Amino acid sequence: MKKNINIGKIKQFKSMRESLSLQDAIREANRCLLCYDAPCSKACPAGTDPAKFIRQIKFYNFKGAARTIRNNNILGGVCAHICPVEKLCEQKCSILALENPIDISGLQRFASEYGEKFGIEPLVKHKSNDNKIAVIGAGPAGIGCASVLAKKGYQVTIFEKENAGGGVLRWNIPEFRLPKVALERDFNNLLDIGVTVKYNTNIDSEDAIQSLMKNGYKAIFIATGLSEAFRMDLFYNFSNAIDYISFLRTIKIKNGNEALVNKNVAIIGGGSVAIDSAVSAKACGAKKVYLISLEHLGELPADQEEIDLARKMNIIFKSGSQITGLVSDKNQITQIKGKEIEWMEPEKFIPENARQIKGTEFNLNVDLVVQAIGTKPGKEILKFSTGLKTFGKGILVVNENFETNIPGIFAGGDISNGGSTVVQAVGEGKKAAENIHIFLG
Ligand SMILES: Cc1cc2nc3c(=O)[nH]c(=O)nc-3n(C[C@H](O)[C@H](O)[C@H](O)COP(=O)(O)OP(=O)(O)OC[C@H]3O[C@@H](n4cnc5c(N)ncnc54)[C@H](O)[C@@H]3O)c2cc1C
Ligand code: SF4
Repeated sequence: MKKNINIGKIKQFKSMRESLSLQDAIREANRCLLCYDAPCSKACPAGTDPAKFIRQIKFYNFKGAARTIRNNNILGGVCAHICPVEKLCEQKCSILALENPIDISGLQRFASEYGEKFGIEPLVKHKSNDNKIAVIGAGPAGIGCASVLAKKGYQVTIFEKENAGGGVLRWNIPEFRLPKVALERDFNNLLDIGVTVKYNTNIDSEDAIQSLMKNGYKAIFIATGLSEAFRMDLFYNFSNAIDYISFLRTIKIKNGNEALVNKNVAIIGGGSVAIDSAVSAKACGAKKVYLISLEHLGELPADQEEIDLARKMNIIFKSGSQITGLVSDKNQITQIKGKEIEWMEPEKFIPENARQIKGTEFNLNVDLVVQAIGTKPGKEILKFSTGLKTFGKGILVVNENFETNIPGIFAGGDISNGGSTVVQAVGEGKKAAENIHIFLG
């Protein structure tokens, strides 16, 4: 079944992926081949087991389907909205050889929403043992890890620097892609099983790890994500050049941003977060939104679903282009100058490999520049990670058990994989939890 992208609703910041009706869900589940050793289930990094919940829907066991999702993936409701399924479970669907893959994310949304509407029993707090575990960061990786450890009976405390949990899900992913209710529903499940979350607690001192250990925590899971955005040297000192993390956060908190009405906005970057920023700007009333990327249209790292949406929202693609300069007035950028490029070597999408093409110069009048060119670990983690092995921009090194070079200190999610997906972070958190359990004997 083709995904229904509702542009009218995006303008009102509603959900991009629509809910499936009961009839549509049954029709879709009936297309499933009920594969033995199902490839869709194998392809889910968090072990959500689509083959099982699709079978349950097919046999009208909707509550059972909701339970399967919740038990396997505590963020199953969230993932149903934002997982890049066309690269994961749906890409592996056996039926793809014949027709469209099963709409797995649609069925996952249907079952999760059904479970809430018609009530499946809340998860219960597990009897706890004496072992205390500290999780740093209440994003998808921390939530995934905490959920498994709490179910095993550990006393889990998550230390979170913000005043609410969810990480990027809460603060950055636009509402039109991830409705708040989906996060609240899943996050409450975590609280139901007895995980304690200490909000407004920034773990930022150099001896943080040692003092947690001294306070009786037997193992620590670091899940602090990547909270600092890269910025281009060219744009330093200009007050109307910001990064996408703060740009999206403002829109999310204010549920819009009136300051963007009738403004021209240039987004730098070609990935999913650049498209999220571009679509959000347009939905907030921006007049012209340019998406400037080195990659040409067919090379953009963003998903096709997102690119299609951006086109429908009249985003102006300046793909295959490089910024060559700017015009400013006091500390405000007023114009961006660029040129089209070609690659000197194929498949090497880095600035050093770009050759500018003569005669392709362009100038864009802009009121705001948003840089969406990647993220790195926040400054706090660099402080408290003294003694932990890192590579590149400060990414933590872990082994196949998600354990760092210090025994008992584990890490997962973006802080150790360098930036991936929600479902990957949940999966790593779950696997780390199993290894923490083994570590503690
Ligand atoms: C705009 C945007 C859109 C995205 N869209 C998608 C998508 O559609 N689909 C998808 O699968 N993925 C998407 N991603 C990627 C996905 O959100 C991340 O891969 C995922 O959130 C990583 O989870 P995490 O738990 O590792 O980190 P985070 O989500 O970053 O969570 C880290 C948590 O740790 C807390 N923290 C950090 N430092 C400290 C500290 N020192 N002390 C205490 N707490 C701390 C933070 O406040 C945060 O709550 C998107 C990312 C962005 C930025
Ligand atoms: S791979 Fe496709 S057809 Fe097979 S069980 Fe999974 S959803 Fe059904």
